[in-house]
Amino acid sequence: MAEVGPGTVEAKDVAIAYQMARGQEPLVALEGLSVTVRDGEFLVVVGPSGCGKSTFLNVIGGLFQPSAGELLVGGKSVAGPGPDRAMVFQDYALLPWRSVYDNVKFGLEVQGRLTQDSDALIREYIDLVGLTGFEKSYPRELSGGMRQRVGLARALVTEPKIMLMDEPFAAIDAITRETMQDELLRIVAKTGQTCVFITHSVDEAIVLADRIVVLTDRPGKVRGVIEVDIERPRTVNTLRHHPKYADIRDELWRLLSKGDVGAVPQAVRA
Ligand code: ADP
Repeated sequence: MAEVGPGTVEAKDVAIAYQMARGQEPLVALEGLSVTVRDGEFLVVVGPSGCGKSTFLNVIGGLFQPSAGELLVGGKSVAGPGPDRAMVFQDYALLPWRSVYDNVKFGLEVQGRLTQDSDALIREYIDLVGLTGFEKSYPRELSGGMRQRVGLARALVTEPKIMLMDEPFAAIDAITRETMQDELLRIVAKTGQTCVFITHSVDEAIVLADRIVVLTDRPGKVRGVIEVDIERPRTVNTLRHHPKYADIRDELWRLLSKGDVGAVPQAVRA
């Protein structure tokens, strides 16, 4: 069995049931979900819309407590959010009245971790995501890709063990999206963090992942796991021509198509 490190995430038979209005049955979003994310691994989660992917990410983030089963981070049961985990959202979730610099700074502020040395740290991560020179810009002055770079820097500046990313590039145009995938690969190769990344895109999953977990229709549990046995460093362009690429894509599509094909979102079939 793989060793448990600070960035290891273990979901053991996790269930989440949302309480609904009085008189209605609880909505079971996840049931019997068991998966281990290895320390430093890039794990991508795919599955039909509404199968519980975001719910799973929120469980790891400590925002929801499992109604059954257990979620461990670094071998310890998760009781709530913590500085060892940071989230990046599809809609960027930036503060519009704050500059790029102050949005990144906000990541440290909310954790009460601003110190005299923070300025250097903030500038380091702004630089890492390629935004040096834009420190004083406001979100409205930035493209979608640049906004997401700010979202990434705000999460990275807290130096979490685990990055939780919920379709972070879904709202970004196709060409910028590929650049962002390359950038993310470059960044995590440097930081060595554990990443859990949700996507609807088969190609994005293969480019980024060490392993891909495919969930079933709701209630979500693991339908299959695919090892992306392709060496790093990878770039979006070189990977598409890799001899293993087509086989992995077929296998992923086969897993996604099992059961109710109609439930697989259009974007996955692209
Ligand atoms: P996915 O990310 O795979 O699209 P979600 O985790 O967002 O799926 O949602 C899983 C299921 O739980 C969906 O049926 C969704 O409608 C439901 N759901 C999500 N959040 C809530 C909530 N706060 N209250 C009730 N039901 C919810």
